[in-house]
Amino acid sequence: MIRFFILFLLSTSLFSAQVERDRWDNAQTYLDFLQNNELPIKELYYNLDKDDQRLTEEMRAGIHYQVVKDNNETIEQILLPLNDELQIHIYKDKNKYQFEAIPIISTTKTEAFYTTITSSPNYNILKETGSKKLAQIFVASFKHSLNFKNDIRKGDQLVMIYDQKYRLGEPFSMPTLKVAMIEMHHKQHFIYLNSDDRYYDEKAHEVEGFLLARPVRGARISSYFTKRRWHPVLHKWKAHLGVDYAARRGTPVIAAGRGTIIWASRLGSYGNLIKIRHADGYETRYAHLKSFRRGIRRGKRIKKGQTIGYVGSTGRSTGPHLHFELRKRGRAVNPLRVVQVTTKKLKGKEKKAFLLLKKNYDQSVALHLNNKTPYNKRPPFEPIGYIHFLQGKTNG
Ligand SMILES: [Zn+2]
Repeated sequence: MIRFFILFLLSTSLFSAQVERDRWDNAQTYLDFLQNNELPIKELYYNLDKDDQRLTEEMRAGIHYQVVKDNNETIEQILLPLNDELQIHIYKDKNKYQFEAIPIISTTKTEAFYTTITSSPNYNILKETGSKKLAQIFVASFKHSLNFKNDIRKGDQLVMIYDQKYRLGEPFSMPTLKVAMIEMHHKQHFIYLNSDDRYYDEKAHEVEGFLLARPVRGARISSYFTKRRWHPVLHKWKAHLGVDYAARRGTPVIAAGRGTIIWASRLGSYGNLIKIRHADGYETRYAHLKSFRRGIRRGKRIKKGQTIGYVGSTGRSTGPHLHFELRKRGRAVNPLRVVQVTTKKLKGKEKKAFLLLKKNYDQSVALHLNNKTPYNKRPPFEPIGYIHFLQGKTNG
């Protein structure tokens, strides 16, 4: 059985339900949220299976969520986005509240803007767009190649082309940088997103970023990262916010990068867990460990490649493996995107394909530079009513 979810957007005049949009509070937990809204904690938390309970811990401060109320101010539905693909859907069915995880329906737009620098790229992007995320992404992309502090002059210019996801008419999730160009001393510097999902400079050299070592040497990956997947046996949507490495019990687990241990103890379904904080808002997590290496404790500084613990099966685990997570400012990201040994230089066919892609991007950048394309400010959010249809369909 496969279920299809369709969201229809209608204007409020056609439909009586009212949608309220809110921001998830800094200190608010999912349980606080249920309590504050007088929602049944037993049905919507304690009766859930462990995986769904884990999902509820994924709510992050600042996330926009929607609440649909009827004319008597009774909550009919709630949508809580967990990442850019999966959301919690709480809804009233025959006077009982139900919980489910469902895919997020979103559209992606490619956007671009130009700006002149009066102070710093960070300052001027923020001033132009109002978006901290765009400023962050731009600055991070040139972090290892340019020195903005020393080399920027007033009047230098930049262009940024990126993909932005929209959900219910609102931008959400981290934008994906496609091209960044900054002109300093009349010389243009570029960063491009290639079709292999990695970033390269104009010479087809991979841009050095935050690189991680594989946390278990030589181990096979038994489960990949996914923000949402349909579980064919349990008939529900789940997420696997890490990578599983299958390995024998007792195999050494090494730190994927330099950092500081911020957790080395048991934690619920994670079992024995180590968390390491790295530079730039990154954090790695190593779960289901049999044991910790001697001397591994909170506050300890760790080098990349240092043994920190041993593969086990503690917590909610069906057999010995390492569950490895990478978080960037709290959000789960795919660790395999940054797990690698050396940076790459494109050659041959790969380089040819990249140069073609680069040529198209360069033309777009030149156009935006020439037009001085301003950032497209969106109209403010209008409350909209909508119906959420749930169709069941049997798949032979
Ligand atoms: Zn796992």
